[in-house]
Amino acid sequence: MEIARLNNCVTLPVTDEEPVLDSMLGWLARWLRMLGVHAIYSPSFSDEYLLTVSHLLITRDRELFRKRAVATLLLETSTHTEWLSVSSLVLGNQLVLDMDRSLCPICGSRLIRVGRDAVAGRVPGSVLLRHDTFWACTGCGKVYWVGSHHARIRRELESARAILGRLRTSCVDGNLLIIRE
Ligand SMILES: [Zn+2]
Repeated sequence: MEIARLNNCVTLPVTDEEPVLDSMLGWLARWLRMLGVHAIYSPSFSDEYLLTVSHLLITRDRELFRKRAVATLLLETSTHTEWLSVSSLVLGNQLVLDMDRSLCPICGSRLIRVGRDAVAGRVPGSVLLRHDTFWACTGCGKVYWVGSHHARIRRELESARAILGRLRTSCVDGNLLIIRE
């Protein structure tokens, strides 16, 4: 089943440090940033703006995909895990969480590793007791830690890696089809 396509038969992964995501892909933007990809995203990007973007555009919008001349990835599946697998195939990012490489899921800024003292008063007391390593966003100031929710993140990435292993590509009429076997 075809789950995505690129508007050019290029060799994967593509080289693009700052892929741009359309306004429907907030979930993917957060996950890609967690995985260290500098994903450019705003819920208010207009179609007019997205048409002019010179970076790789990742979109769910067929009309936009049809109009774009420069590199564009159309996600044809609504399954979030498949979005992660396709993005990894196209961008070449690892589907492994390494907090020291992560960017802030909210604003995309760099995170720095900090100790307990640096975040006292900024995280719940119970969290402060249980953890001694934190990551603080250099942009918005939000604080992250490896909590119980990381089990769910790891499971999601494991599923995405399994799907990645079953993806193949096929060049048809100048489009690179991404097919899940
Ligand atoms: Zn931030």
